[in-house]
Amino acid sequence: MSENTIQAYAALEAGAALVPYQFDAGELQAHQVEVKVEYCGLCHSDVSVINNEWGNAVFPVVGGHEIIGTITQLGSEAKGLKVGQRVGIGWTAESCQYCDPCISGQQVLCTGEKQATIVGHAGGFANKVRAGWQWIIPLPEDLDPESAGPLLCGGITVFDPILKHQIQAVHHVGVIGIGGLGHMAIKLLKAWGCEITAFTSSLDKTDELKAMGADHVVNSRDANALKAQRGKFDLLLCTVNVTLDWKLYLNTLAPNGSIHMLGMVVEPMAIPAGNLISGAKSVTGSPTGSPFALRQLLQFAARKNIAPQIELYPMSKINDALERLHSGKARYRIVLKADF
Ligand SMILES: [Zn+2]
Ligand SMILES: [Zn+2]
Repeated sequence: MSENTIQAYAALEAGAALVPYQFDAGELQAHQVEVKVEYCGLCHSDVSVINNEWGNAVFPVVGGHEIIGTITQLGSEAKGLKVGQRVGIGWTAESCQYCDPCISGQQVLCTGEKQATIVGHAGGFANKVRAGWQWIIPLPEDLDPESAGPLLCGGITVFDPILKHQIQAVHHVGVIGIGGLGHMAIKLLKAWGCEITAFTSSLDKTDELKAMGADHVVNSRDANALKAQRGKFDLLLCTVNVTLDWKLYLNTLAPNGSIHMLGMVVEPMAIPAGNLISGAKSVTGSPTGSPFALRQLLQFAARKNIAPQIELYPMSKINDALERLHSGKARYRIVLKADF
């Protein structure tokens, strides 16, 4: 087996169970870095690509984009990294480095040639993975490598809007849907100092969510409970991917408040313009985050002792882990430990 052989778990066609899959990755390119995978989180987007729900999957699909590992090979152009260093890789593996968003440090919005880690590129359900050096994020020493992976996709997805909306400790933030993303949002906002309301349909999680940092827990399916929240929120982070009564949620915003979309709701949103105009409200959205925000997140998480709550599976049991994810019972993120 050459040093460029990668062992992985792949879906050979849409919706198929994952099977062991080996391929030759070829010579490492000058701008790339190769990482030996230690842990990889399991994200709903992995399932979306494996099932080709977005129509852009390239089979065989090797999923996995919440990767923690150590550097095994450095391309000649890679800067500021060293072999053996522990790092993370998230949703994006490469960006063009010369378009306006890239030049301005917003590489996640790259309009040139960009490469997602698991679309037409082999991700972290493998013993090794490769990415452009700018997307290799150094892991602070104090961060537990076993649970840090989910910060690289789920975590940054909820952290980036906290930065973009300039959320401060005096603000009241609502989190809609408390799964992998939502529970990380609560932990981050708690450390940020905000007042936090968790919206969930699983009220059996109430004590857990309060222990995590939620000040209030509201039943997301109870229209009267939602009406009672009128005018409260500076920001609502929507992590669910189903249609909600958007008018009702708009009414829960404080003046200048925003609903920020993170879940891929397929159906167009019905937004009454009057509700936006009267309180200067907005509906916004964002994908994951750029390398600088990722570095800030990992440093913040290390300093504030924030770790995603995970269930650990050996990577060889990846199909069991996927089933667990489907069941909706995982608390709150699944991480796979590479055992090749
Ligand atoms: Zn993801
Ligand atoms: Zn670019």
